[in-house]
Amino acid sequence: MRIASIQHGGTVRLAIVDDGCFRVAPAAITDLRDVMAPGDGLRAFAEACHAGDTFVFDPSLLRAPLLRIQRDILCAGWNYWDHFEEGRGRREGQEVDRPQRPTFFTKGPDAVVGPQDPIAFDAAVSTRWDYEVEVAVIIGRDGRSIPPERALDHVFGYCLANDISLRDLQRAHGGQWLKGKSIDRTMPLGPWITTADAVDPAAIDIACEVNGELLQSASTALMAFDLPTLIAELSWGMTLRAGDVLLTGTPAGVGNARTPPRYLSEGDVVISRSPQLGEMRNRMTSVDLHSYEAGSAAGTM
Ligand code: MG
Repeated sequence: MRIASIQHGGTVRLAIVDDGCFRVAPAAITDLRDVMAPGDGLRAFAEACHAGDTFVFDPSLLRAPLLRIQRDILCAGWNYWDHFEEGRGRREGQEVDRPQRPTFFTKGPDAVVGPQDPIAFDAAVSTRWDYEVEVAVIIGRDGRSIPPERALDHVFGYCLANDISLRDLQRAHGGQWLKGKSIDRTMPLGPWITTADAVDPAAIDIACEVNGELLQSASTALMAFDLPTLIAELSWGMTLRAGDVLLTGTPAGVGNARTPPRYLSEGDVVISRSPQLGEMRNRMTSVDLHSYEAGSAAGTM
């Protein structure tokens, strides 16, 4: 099953994506976590959608599939060895050996945009905007210290993300990744959530194109640490909660590792795609992110 959030009149509603149509969920179902609840939540959701309104599929109606992001986006870094290796010598004094265990960091939730939305771009904030197509995992069930053999029981579904990364900000603030990956409205998520029963997480193909040029193409079979390992290690002593989003790392081909580097700029169209998970199309769009603004900066684009 494919579950999207779509613009429906003046509100955003959950919907099932079927061949050529959206089947809209009742307005009373406002939180995907209700659908994730143990029991027959998903089956009841499907029945309710099939009994509801149906519209012709229109990608421009797609919004980020989670209506509420309850905490920072959880992320794995360096989770494809070809990507780790392509970065050797390019970390500007912050070189490390191959990690023996998964590398984790987080991104601020205001970074999230939908699968057709503009990606905010401001050259005054950074001059090194980079792309990173990734598989995002939606956790469906709370759990702590989850053993690897139980890990996939805690997955609700999968979608795509693009972990847009500002390389100069990554380097400038202690070599951490939070700052360079948390700029407002820079992380496309979508186009919808494909439920776990419909996907083999070890065989998802992902690709990233910029202006029609294929720059990344890989399979999750190439991950340094597979999904059960990521979930087991991340949840060790730390509760993962239903609705959490876990990005699983990007393969080789990022702009920072190219000669010459291939950074993103105003007008570039970034396509993130997967035959199993769908396609997102996002245009780099100039926004003033550097002027002082009180209140909700994320709401001004
Ligand atoms: Mg990444």
